[in-house]
Amino acid sequence: MAFLEVKDLTRIYGKKDNTLTALDHVSFSVEKGEFVAITGASGSGKSTLLHLLGTMDEPQEGSVFLEGESVLGQREAKRSVFRRRKIGFVFQEYNLVPVLNVEENIQMPVRLDGKRMDPQYLEQLLKILGLTDRRYHLPEELSGGQKQRVAIGRALANRPSLLLADEPTGNLDHQNGLEVMSLLKRSVEEFCLTLIVVTHDPAIASMADRVITLSDGVLISDAKVKHALSADVSAMDGRDAHE
Ligand code: ADP
Repeated sequence: MAFLEVKDLTRIYGKKDNTLTALDHVSFSVEKGEFVAITGASGSGKSTLLHLLGTMDEPQEGSVFLEGESVLGQREAKRSVFRRRKIGFVFQEYNLVPVLNVEENIQMPVRLDGKRMDPQYLEQLLKILGLTDRRYHLPEELSGGQKQRVAIGRALANRPSLLLADEPTGNLDHQNGLEVMSLLKRSVEEFCLTLIVVTHDPAIASMADRVITLSDGVLISDAKVKHALSADVSAMDGRDAHE
């Protein structure tokens, strides 16, 4: 069985005469370690799909299996533990806690789980994300790109196996956006994660291994990316993050 298996996923909003099929029998599977971009026009169903993958919503039909375990149809208490332990989320908005510094924000999900973060892992995250010298700074003292890097650190705090990102570069300029994506990619390789990113930006999608395209809730294309063509992106690889 694949790492992630999505079968016939169908989400219909509304009732009776006033319904909208946001996802229509969408099926695909993702292997461990893959980086998949989900793209499509506004309203095509990208966020709906990501919410279902993230166990934040229930479909009318279909199934999602993560590492062989069904992520749908569980009670909320069980779902929220599953979500916290297995899935990391990165959103367009950074949603950092303003009164907590960088390292406290990163550790928050572990603390919420009543645990302490392994100090070595925290150092490793701070290093990869280029935040070691900003660890005691408050969010208001950081640039947009740095804030998103803290949000990535927080998403990785519980060592998830799946990272879901919804327009993670939506509030960043082109250069910072590429840097954040480059860091996400590096984190995926370093921690052997599977990454699914929703984006309407072709430059971001071209960094993925695969691009799934939705149109009016229907999966219309699922294609591997030829990386030799994305010259400016490969030039980013191996470069350290900076502001
Ligand atoms: P995208 O992320 O690609 O912009 P969405 O998944 O947000 O698309 O939305 C897909 C469709 O479902 C759109 O037509 C949107 O208006 C509709 N939709 C999304 N959320 C809801 C909701 N909670 N209630 C009703 N319709 C919704």
